Amino acid sequence: MFASPAIAADLNPQQQHAVHHRGTPLLVVAGAGTGKTKTLATRVVQLIDDGVDPQRILLLTFTRRAASEMLHRVASATDDRAASRVWGGTFHSTANRLLRNFGQTAGLSPNFTVLDQSDATDLMGMVRTEEGFGERSKRFPKKETVAGIYGRMVNSQAKLSEVLETDYPWCADHGDELKTIFSAYTARKRRHQVLDYDDLLLFWRALSAAPSAGPAMRDLFDHILIDEYQDTNPIQSDIIRGMCRPSDDERPTEVCAVGDDAQAIYGFRCASVENMWAFPDHFPGATTVTLEQNYRSTSPILAVANAVLASAPTTAGATSHFTKELWSTKTEGPKPHLLTHHDESAQSRTVCENILDARERGMDLRSQAVLFRAGHHSDGLELELTRRDIPYVKYGGLKYLEAAHVKDLLSLLRILDNPSDMLAWHRVLSSMEGIGPATVRRLAEELELESAENAPLSLARFIDGIGKVPAAAKAEADELRAAFADCIDDADFPPAQQVERLKPFCAMVFPNRYDNSTARLSDIDQLAASAAAYGSRNRFLTELTLDPPGKTSDQAGPPHLDDDWLTLSTIHSAKGGEWRAVHVIHAADGNIPSDMALGDQAGMAEELRLMYVALTRAKDELTVHAPLRFHVNRFGQDDRHVLAQVSRFLDPVRDLFDEGASQAQPSDDSIIELDTVGVADEVDTLLASLWD
Ligand code: ATP
Ligand code: MG
Repeated sequence: MFASPAIAADLNPQQQHAVHHRGTPLLVVAGAGTGKTKTLATRVVQLIDDGVDPQRILLLTFTRRAASEMLHRVASATDDRAASRVWGGTFHSTANRLLRNFGQTAGLSPNFTVLDQSDATDLMGMVRTEEGFGERSKRFPKKETVAGIYGRMVNSQAKLSEVLETDYPWCADHGDELKTIFSAYTARKRRHQVLDYDDLLLFWRALSAAPSAGPAMRDLFDHILIDEYQDTNPIQSDIIRGMCRPSDDERPTEVCAVGDDAQAIYGFRCASVENMWAFPDHFPGATTVTLEQNYRSTSPILAVANAVLASAPTTAGATSHFTKELWSTKTEGPKPHLLTHHDESAQSRTVCENILDARERGMDLRSQAVLFRAGHHSDGLELELTRRDIPYVKYGGLKYLEAAHVKDLLSLLRILDNPSDMLAWHRVLSSMEGIGPATVRRLAEELELESAENAPLSLARFIDGIGKVPAAAKAEADELRAAFADCIDDADFPPAQQVERLKPFCAMVFPNRYDNSTARLSDIDQLAASAAAYGSRNRFLTELTLDPPGKTSDQAGPPHLDDDWLTLSTIHSAKGGEWRAVHVIHAADGNIPSDMALGDQAGMAEELRLMYVALTRAKDELTVHAPLRFHVNRFGQDDRHVLAQVSRFLDPVRDLFDEGASQAQPSDDSIIELDTVGVADEVDTLLASLWD
């Protein structure tokens, strides 16, 4: 029946159907571990085998790690060259790549800078202060809240007034001020050629719909495949539609999406499982395939996961549209363990001991993972792992790049990359001794940073000695001018050397800024090491922003490639992953469900799905831990212990666990073509329509 049946030979009939289906849009809806991702990767292999040009295939995944894992599978089944030509990545990284090619028609310089979430928040804060809302006696929402309101409004494409009413009622009085801030924020980004994450998607969507770039973009791909479709937001769904040649086209684009509505965990970022439910409406004539056999976990583990999901109140925002009682042929295996602990340190010690025991039994560290709801939940465990010299890599939570000193160095590179980057200038200038907000404002004027036309020349002006600094900052500024002059030519001086060259300036300013400046300087060396892989500064900066490395500096030594290491991950970042043994820690009420979700039905339903995602990561052994006392230190002040209860989600399923208590004791380019204005204006008008 099929040209090369061998490719999909190890798949079951439904999976094979999904691999070979052609001609109409395809949706695979199935539960955890049923082989959705495997099926998608096999489909790519099959397409290449069928003669589809690999570079006409777009594979969209939720993380870059997922894309590279899938393409790795494709490479081993085809050849490296074919796999490397497939367009694989996240929506944001694909947007970045496309906008660098097509963005000029939207008035974007190909050298635009991408702001990560915390930079965007800082820029919002800067605009907020400039607009005079920072120093008011009346309490005004903090920059994080302002950025949160903005993000919710843009991602859900809802009006500001609606967002304020439903999600931020305590800010409802500030609608007018927020409008002013948002307009200024948008103008600032455009003027300085910087895009935040949301802009990447908005510009991609607008370009795909524009007569200038749309047809050329649609012409790039014959096949679009999307993993984790349940976690796409409405903009992403529009983008997919915008990128597809319609069914009445001579060669319609073939689209294939896979997802699991029971694993929708990004509602807080406005992802909507409705996209998946609406797939047959969005893509008329779509075929739906369902999968039921779980190949990952043993039956006792699935029994717990199924029961947790079944306990979800059906009224709480319809957790799942499709009944999925997962089953497995791996019927043998230990019952999952539910361990309560006296406190967090007992939990940390027990987890370490269990992990080392498992390793003694032949389960290497790489087959084991520890999962938790929030990034800081692993703090205590990380100390214990370090003490015992157990190497680990952490995913999710605070990123290395969010560390202030790493941002300092990156800001220096960003100025070299885009001298109009006001935010980076602000950070760098104010890092010098004796330079406060008033001096920064004066320097910004002298460097003409506010002028869209002259801002690109600000770096040259600074190097030439323009910008009078106070005496205390003279030596630092001289060093910086010299370092900038040496690094300006990206072609002759690769990014790794630029990082090295900028380090002496950091060595001068860090001691005044930070307590442990020596440790922070060694992080700069690490940054130089990662920069070595890149030939251009812009590429290096963009890759770092779109795919930040984990929190490397706090590890018990960076793992070498051939070493064995344990995975620590937030549940969000563990999506799609699997390990032989999984420990879910801090499974206490208040942690999961997070206390922030208490009292909110949709939020609670999402927390339950998070628990489901965590439980379904385990292949052979699952241990859930609940410390009954934990330490709270909020904002460094409120130092106390609180009593906790085992997560309410586990209450109805406790008989499916082996329960026990642990023995551990407490102890700018201004030339814009005509049509350009069209798309840029369109994005700006759309944004403005949200708050007008
Ligand atoms: P999740 O919902 O967690 O993302 P998934 O549906 O994407 O899960 P995969 O990760 O693709 O599932 O597969 C889960 C495991 O089952 C993998 O180890 C995969 O290799 C294995 N698997 C999938 N299909 C088969 C099959 N037909 N035969 C044997 N193993 C399979
Ligand atoms: Mg998957």
